[in-house]
Amino acid sequence: APHQRADLRELIDSTLVMLGRKIGDGVDVVREYDPALPALPVYAAELNQVWTNLIDNAVAAMDGSGTLTVRTRRDGDDAVVEIADTGPGVPEDIRTRIFEPFFTTKAVGEGTGLGLDISWRIVVKKHHGSLTVRSVPGDTVFEVRIPLEAPTP
Ligand code: ADP
Ligand code: MG
Repeated sequence: APHQRADLRELIDSTLVMLGRKIGDGVDVVREYDPALPALPVYAAELNQVWTNLIDNAVAAMDGSGTLTVRTRRDGDDAVVEIADTGPGVPEDIRTRIFEPFFTTKAVGEGTGLGLDISWRIVVKKHHGSLTVRSVPGDTVFEVRIPLEAPTP
């Protein structure tokens, strides 16, 4: 289990700062953070890779304009982070395949198809959490769920 606790707001904000140029002026960023969410035991550098992948995908889907919303909340014994975008959505027929390694709908050179595979492994295998998507056109939400306390082996 991780030795350090981190405040998810701080991790996500630092990722947003790092990605500022890529997010661009046409995308509104809305941050809705639950102030009561406690710090939790996480591998911070790896989770930052997850936010990076999800935000990168969201921004790519919106193609320069839209709203990126990042939310945190507590749900029982879990911390929940949602990364939402107003892009066209993930078509139903590929919704299970997007988590497979090398699955991409992007042009050669624009996507490796590894972002969601790596993110899934970091969240599920390393943090005993879950990574899921729900999507309709104009509202796509990737939900990361991480236990507030690492399970004892
Ligand atoms: P890559 O970004 O390199 O294509 P990912 O594993 O990050 O690889 O994503 C796989 C695929 O999932 C993308 O090519 C895209 O088709 C789909 N996808 C991921 N995020 C979104 C999103 N926010 N909106 C629409 N489609 C998405
Ligand atoms: Mg990606």
